[in-house]
Amino acid sequence: MKVTVDPNSGFCWGVVRTIEIAEQELRESKKLYSLGDIIHNPLEIERLGEEGLKTISHADLENIKDAKVLIRAHGEPPETYRRAKELGIELIDATCPVVTKVQERIRKFYDKEYQIVIFGKKDHAEVIGLVGHTNGTAIVIKSVEEVSKLDLTRNTVLFSQTTMDKATFYAIRDEIRSKIKAEFEVGTFEEMAIDFHAKDTICGQVSGRDKKLREFSRSNDVLIFVAGKKSSNGKVLFEIAREENPRTYFVEDENELQPEWFENVETVGISGATSTPQWLMERIKSSIEEIVHVRA
Ligand code: SF4
Repeated sequence: MKVTVDPNSGFCWGVVRTIEIAEQELRESKKLYSLGDIIHNPLEIERLGEEGLKTISHADLENIKDAKVLIRAHGEPPETYRRAKELGIELIDATCPVVTKVQERIRKFYDKEYQIVIFGKKDHAEVIGLVGHTNGTAIVIKSVEEVSKLDLTRNTVLFSQTTMDKATFYAIRDEIRSKIKAEFEVGTFEEMAIDFHAKDTICGQVSGRDKKLREFSRSNDVLIFVAGKKSSNGKVLFEIAREENPRTYFVEDENELQPEWFENVETVGISGATSTPQWLMERIKSSIEEIVHVRA
């Protein structure tokens, strides 16, 4: 049986950068706080924990005195920076530059009094940060049905959380366009008074993986998808893999592997999310080889 780790999977450059920033600080000071999990992968958190990284919540900020606090790749609302300054906390800002750019673009439209709509998950850290750049006024939706919540008599701009799926983003855009048309019943969309923009801010590191993951999933009898259960990007990519190959299984670590998945199988592929470390996928590869070896 041949087991292959997907060469196009694993950390995106934004996550690599965040971890490098954290490790650099840990080498110097041996202690660092991360505001929220640095990454949606419990095993990588454990590894960095051994180097001195400790996860804290916003409520814990009040009591931090002995080390710096890292802002992770998802970013934070402006309120967090203000509060840290007030408390005299030194921040290390590892917000992914892609996310920073989205925050800036949202801010520009907010200043021009547009209705800001974000396609995303309202409890996701990145979305909380984005909404913070509109003083809490942005409307977060995650489906076409929720377009009914919007006030389409206002100038409106649609953005996306960086890890959402493109098909739904464009379906939401089309729904907004057709509702505006229906509401005003005048000519084409372009001719109407309402200004509507759709800004596809889905990260290329995520969307570019769809196609390659589909090919990789189809080319293996069984696909093991490795990600943290809290990883938003992991859930999206897992569904994509399963669409192509029904024998796709989601695992967080090697303990979740089931020997019967590998019966009468010639090829197994291992893939992961943008937050899945390479070392973990290699470890899962060894475990699968061990399972098959023991059975033989
Ligand atoms: S997926 Fe994109 S936006 Fe998110 S951390 Fe990676 S590079 Fe940055």
